[in-house]
Amino acid sequence: MDHFEIRDGAMHAEQVPLAAIADTVGTPVYVYSAATIRRHVRVFRDALAGLEQDGLPPLVAFAVKANPNAAVLSVLAGLGCGADVVSGGELRRALAAGIPAERIVFSGVGKTADEMALALQHGIGQFNLESEEEAVTLSAVASRLALTARVAFRVNPDVDAGTHAKISTGRSENKFGIAYDLAPEAFARAAALPGLTIEGVAVHIGSQLTDLGPLETAFGRIGTLIAALRAAGHAIRTADLGGGLGIPYEPSKPIPPSPAAYGEMVRRATKGWAVRLIFEPGRLIVGNAGVLLASVIRVKPGSASPFVVVDAAMNDLMRPALYDAWHDIRATAPRGDRFVANVVGPVCETGDTFAMHREMDRVAAGDRVAFMTAGAYAATMASTYNSRALTPEVMVSGSKWSIVRARQPIEALIAGDSVPDWVHDLAEGE
Ligand SMILES: *Cc1c(COP(=O)(O)O)cnc(C)c1O
Repeated sequence: MDHFEIRDGAMHAEQVPLAAIADTVGTPVYVYSAATIRRHVRVFRDALAGLEQDGLPPLVAFAVKANPNAAVLSVLAGLGCGADVVSGGELRRALAAGIPAERIVFSGVGKTADEMALALQHGIGQFNLESEEEAVTLSAVASRLALTARVAFRVNPDVDAGTHAKISTGRSENKFGIAYDLAPEAFARAAALPGLTIEGVAVHIGSQLTDLGPLETAFGRIGTLIAALRAAGHAIRTADLGGGLGIPYEPSKPIPPSPAAYGEMVRRATKGWAVRLIFEPGRLIVGNAGVLLASVIRVKPGSASPFVVVDAAMNDLMRPALYDAWHDIRATAPRGDRFVANVVGPVCETGDTFAMHREMDRVAAGDRVAFMTAGAYAATMASTYNSRALTPEVMVSGSKWSIVRARQPIEALIAGDSVPDWVHDLAEGE
């Protein structure tokens, strides 16, 4: 459930009409609802009831890559969430937003020695290692700093998550994690390295999962592995079950399993594990909490359906071009009739297409549209392709709203480049 609704003929984010934001900030602009973010954290935590370990509830470590905006992270910090980070940059953003280091988990297949040192110096909660090579590097870095790294190995359970190939991570041919069968040896070797303490096991099989079956299979394998690791003498204290739960994008598709159903499955799958559970939801927390607000530049005829050309493009919202993602596109002031149209951006790429032959609210030049479910993997993937400025972001809470990322001036974009003197000389030397 989100807080974007049509009231009195106009779409609102909580109590704020989107038109008021568009009039002030211009378009395209991302708009986030703080109440929706807060609600999703509450719903997810409620779904995990009964999974306490030693009186501690599971750690909900928000996957920062889904939406790293400082205001979003601050809302989550205020709710006591942790963070799952995949770079030194995300680590610094999480810390800057007030997320305590001990609630930060560091994932990712390519952590550098510098990033490891930064994380160690801040005392993060856990490194999720993805290879034995990484364990060797972390051991060396920790030893040099005379610090100890708490580590888990991310295990690749070789399960097909049944999602889009580009967001599937748990098959043996994917780059993520260590092979399931090799995990006992990897743990044994890592346990012998200085500067590391083995904490647990981690798994994350993909994103936008719409079926709990593959997750339950993966968790079952992790349970078996935990027992084997304990039998081999490792003290396994944590199990990080990753993120991945899907959210509804397309009204005509079956809705993904609810957080409650996910929690029920987790209770069943993890019975008797006796570990602190860690979860890394990203999309589930912020996906429905954002929209991309755009204006219709013009409507031009097409062979089968007209083209609605909007002022947002693939550089602002890359998911359709990257993953064939489907976003609901609604008029913010619907006229009441519908038509079939293609919705495209101005970028010079055929891939800059948001929808083809889409039945949608009829719109005309000057109207505004909202791309729904654009709070996750959206603004953070924006680029300046076609020399389009990075998209601004706004956060709404009740009747309050603020710009939480200003529109990048084109001057700043140009000023970022520099032209060496010798380039000017080249012209004369013709
Ligand atoms: C991307 C990612 C997540 C979050 O995935 P969602 O589908 O957004 O919940 C969690 N953990 C890891 C390791 C990730 O790479």
